[in-house]
Parts: sequence; structure tokens; C-alpha cells
Amino acid sequence: MTAQPLASQPHIAATLRAALGDAAVRTDTASLDYMANDVYRTGGHPAAIVRPASVDALQQAVRLCAQAGVAMVPRGGGASYTDCYLYPQGGHILFDLTALSSIDIDEANAVVTVGAGTTWAALKAALDARNLRTPFWGPFSGIAATVGGSISQNTVSHGTAAHGTSAQSVLSMDIVLASGDLLTTGIGTATRNYGPDLTGLFTGDCGALGFKTSIRLPLLAAREAAVTVSFAFDSFANCHAAIAIIQKERLEDSHFGLDLALSQGQIARQEGAGARLKIAAQVFRKAPNPVAGLKQLLKMALAGEDPMRAGAYMAHFIVEGITPAEAEGRATRLRALVDPYGREIANSVPSFVRAMPFAPLANILGPTGERWVPIHGVFNQTRVVPFHDAWEALLAKRQTEMQQHGLTVGTMFSPVGPSGFLYEIALYWPDDRTAYHRETLGEAHLSALPAYTENPTARAFTDRFKQEAVALMQEYGASHFQLGRAYPYQQRLDPEAATLLRGIKAALDPKGLMNPGVLGL
Ligand SMILES: Cc1cc2nc3c(=O)[nH]c(=O)nc-3n(C[C@H](O)[C@H](O)[C@H](O)COP(=O)(O)OP(=O)(O)OC[C@H]3O[C@@H](n4cnc5c(N)ncnc54)[C@H](O)[C@@H]3O)c2cc1C
Repeated sequence: MTAQPLASQPHIAATLRAALGDAAVRTDTASLDYMANDVYRTGGHPAAIVRPASVDALQQAVRLCAQAGVAMVPRGGGASYTDCYLYPQGGHILFDLTALSSIDIDEANAVVTVGAGTTWAALKAALDARNLRTPFWGPFSGIAATVGGSISQNTVSHGTAAHGTSAQSVLSMDIVLASGDLLTTGIGTATRNYGPDLTGLFTGDCGALGFKTSIRLPLLAAREAAVTVSFAFDSFANCHAAIAIIQKERLEDSHFGLDLALSQGQIARQEGAGARLKIAAQVFRKAPNPVAGLKQLLKMALAGEDPMRAGAYMAHFIVEGITPAEAEGRATRLRALVDPYGREIANSVPSFVRAMPFAPLANILGPTGERWVPIHGVFNQTRVVPFHDAWEALLAKRQTEMQQHGLTVGTMFSPVGPSGFLYEIALYWPDDRTAYHRETLGEAHLSALPAYTENPTARAFTDRFKQEAVALMQEYGASHFQLGRAYPYQQRLDPEAATLLRGIKAALDPKGLMNPGVLGL
């Protein structure tokens, strides 16, 4: 049986309303328009949006949809751009899981149990109050992105240099299956590893294997002391050589690299005067004492915009320690290792990021209001520079068409453990905004940016170019996170592994109703 558009199941919205209450089911045009988009583009219209207030309500709704044979698509914060929760056929039930938001801190056992719809920003605020943290502690989009969405997608950023990806920080999870039954991975929370890794199976599944309701994450003591360090490099090869060394050392909690285009564009823009004041207040608050806070603010003010323009590539590090002396000691080692490849510059960018790790989602549009879509590949260290050279060659080959359509690019880098290097390419093109941008950014923000009319030609070129870039990444052996419907997956797997995956899907979701199409399932 294949998933049915709702048009052929006219009573399901009424049935869901009767079971869950009117407030839990929306069918108004504005909500459906908004939820038909991710950050990148527009998919099929959902026939209804259901927002279950409890796990029981979610189980009930899943059972009703399964009986009706209707496609079910989960959505967390909606901050993704890989068609992950867009069902092209439309007529599906979109499950807004943000009401499953709860934080239960068990400090004695060093475990926090989080409702899947909790944002990383909310989790950080609750843990900060107890001087605690999780190992991975969120993507830059954590003001909107949920723990459930990030674990379902594989995510990097805060804490990744020291502790790896979102998936590596999970102990166990509760998941509602297509049958409506609740499955718990693992036994207790003392360790994730008890026999085969059933928790791992559901990480990065994009919701194709079930809907996460609760996630248990380990707790660590937060480190108050931190030093931020930035370097500029004249060539990509030098930038990569320095970062690869640092990845093996694990001196820092987080780091990220940027090319000149991204530094000057998205990062330099960071909001208006109000946000700068807020950041200054946060920098001051986070400093070990008022004198150190003032010194850091003065350094940032004197540096002005220079750190955004200091070299062809920049890398920014946030180094933590038990004491300021320990953080300084680690930073000294980091400087000694990076110094032969680049030059130290003012540390404004990582200081901003440490002060405001979850900035408002202004970057869903480009610096002058263009549309934005990132793509990435995770490479073995020895393939990084060869891929970079091939990418530069592709850019040169497509230069005329890019100019014709107004397409521009920027690049960003992240560590993935010692062995993986994440190379992210941001594409910008002039085009009209969607309901997603209007709802997320609001009129006051948008009115200060240039606007563009519908530009289907540039949009189509961007999509073709995006696919060409992904194919090039795969030629250089890249793997990917956040697969959704955007990255080829099963054809890259060993045939035995692909058969196993399809068998697991068939066992958990025999009618193929849960987020049909993601991972090619
Ligand atoms: C400005 C900006 C900055 C970003 N920064 C980063 C970054 O630093 N690092 C990074 O890796 N990514 C980043 N992203 C991408 C994205 O925000 C993250 O991957 C984030 O984790 C998505 O979480 P979400 O809750 O918004 O998930 P959604 O977009 O809602 O969903 C993602 C996927 O998970 C599924 N899903 C959602 N909830 C559940 C659930 N409870 N159970 C099962 N499946 C579920 C959805 O069906 C979909 O397939 C950024 C995006 C933006 C817009």
C-alpha cells in the first residue's frame, strides 16, 4: 500500500480533530502555506497540520493516519534546507512536534531527558542555570532547531570539535513507530552501548523510521573559562593544513572556518545596532571579571570590521578550560600549531559567537536579501584540497552563467572528529521570498532588505548547479549529513547494507507512510 493524498481520505482531518481537539489540527491557508516550505524551497501542500500536545496524542494521531493510509511527515523547528520535511506530492499530514517540549534534569545520574520538540536554546538556558551542558550542544540555528530535528538529521557546530556530532551525544531515545507503538532504544541511561547500537539506527533517519518523542543526553560540567582565537590564511591549502592538525589535538570546544565572501557577507552583517549592544552585554557578562570584559570589548571595537577582511580564509576557535590559565594554556598550544600557516587576527567573530551562540535566523536570506541554500560534503583529509581545486575549476567553468543569473557563493568549514572535514558551500541567487522567510523574519526585518521578483530561471539554474556540486563532492568520496531528499544515499551504500536498510524500513513501517521518499525510501 502506498501513501494516499488526503484528497482521497476526506475524513481524516475531522477524525484527527475529534480525537485530539480542534486546537491540535490546523487547515487554514496561512499555516499550510508556511509549512509547505523549508528554508530552501516550496514543496507540496500538507492537507492538515497536527500538533500533538503529548506522546499519547501523537500515538493516537499516528494510528489514525496509519489506518487511513495517509503519509505522515514530522517537523521540528523547520530550520533545514534539504527537502527533509517537504513531501512533493502534498496531501500529507504534517506533524508539528514542537509541543513535545520538556526538560528533565537528573543531575545525580548526569542525564537530561529532553522532549524532541525542545529547542537547543531552551535546553542551554535550563542547563546554564545549573552550570551544566551536553557534549554537543546545538547548531547555530538552535534558537529554532529542536533536539529531535537535529538528532534525526545529524548536525554539527557547538561542542563538535571536542565531542563530535549530535548523534554522538545521544544515550537513548523513545520513538513512536508507524504502528503507533512506542519503542525505547537501549536499556536505562548508564551507557548507550548494550548490544547492537539501536539508538544509532534512528539517528540521521530524517524521520523515515519513526517519530522521536524523548531523547536522553549525557551531562557534563560547564567550563566557565574560555579564550577565543582567530587566524587568517592566504591560501585554502594553508587553512586546511592548520585545521587538520588542530582537529587531532582537540584543544577547543568549537571551531569554524570561513572564506572571505562569507566573512564579509553573512557574518559581518550580524544584525543591527540592537544586536551589537546585546552581544556587547553578553561578552561583558561572560568575562571572568569586569576588567577582562572591558579589555575584550575594547579589542573588538578597535578591530572594527578588520577581522572580516583579514585574509582569503579565516578560522575561529573557542577554547575552554577549567580555569582561565588552563584555557590560556590550550590557546597557547593552538597558536603555536597554527602560526606556521597563518597569522593571528582580532578575535571578534568567535567572541560574538560565544556571546550569542544561537543568533536570530537572519542568515536564511543572503546579505542583500538574496535567497540562500547551503550544501556540504564530509571529506577524508587527503581529499579536501583536491576537492577544493576541482570546485574552483567548476566555478571558473560556470562563471558566465553564474553572472548571468546573479548566483554568488561562499564557503564555510567545520571539523567532524579528527578524520572528517566538512566543506560547506552557500549558494545565493536573486529571487522572491517564500512564506517561510516572511513568517520567520517578519516585516520589520524584511523591509530593510532589497526584495526581488519571482526568478524561476535563476532558481532552476541554482538547483542544477547545486546538483552538479553535490555530484562533484561525491566524486571525491564525500559523505553527507541531513540527507532528506537532497543527497543520493542508497546508491552509495554497499548493496548488502542497502538491503538491510530497506528490510528495517519494511519491518518498522510496512505501508511506507512515515516521511516517504527521504533517504530514497
Ligand atoms: C541559519 C541556520 C543555521 C544553521 N546552522 C547549522 C549548524 O550550525 N549545523 C548544522 O548541522 N546545521 C545547521 N543548520 C541546519 C538545520 O537548522 C539543522 O540541521 C537543525 O538541526 C534542524 O533542526 P530542526 O528541528 O529545525 O529540524 P527540521 O528542519 O524540522 O527537520 C529536520 C528533519 O528531521 C525530521 N524530524 C524533525 N523532528 C523529528 C522528530 N521528533 N522525530 C523524527 N524526525 C524528526 C524532519 O522530518 C526532517 O527530516 C542551520 C540552518 C539555518 C537556517
